[in-house]
Amino acid sequence: MPDETCVHISSVNALKQPKRRECEECVKIGGEWVHLRTCQECGGTRCCDSSPNKHATKHARASKHPLIASAEPGERWLYCYPDDAFMEY
Ligand SMILES: [Zn+2]
Ligand SMILES: [Zn+2]
Ligand SMILES: [Zn+2]
Repeated sequence: MPDETCVHISSVNALKQPKRRECEECVKIGGEWVHLRTCQECGGTRCCDSSPNKHATKHARASKHPLIASAEPGERWLYCYPDDAFMEY
């Protein structure tokens, strides 16, 4: 593992894929999103920081779930909030 990854990223062995290609929080409130991220702790898919509601980041802060993976086709990366670590795979 390269140095820039963290204990959370290093311990991932099976990536959680998005169950639905939509932000589960935006769907409830009729919001719109730009890109989608999937929480690697609970498997929930939520919207990115370019989206008005930033649900992925809000969820990570509120739940202390550290890792997200991009849920966008063609994007293959993980991000850890507490360590600010990023890894492409
Ligand atoms: Zn980490
Ligand atoms: Zn959202
Ligand atoms: Zn989560």
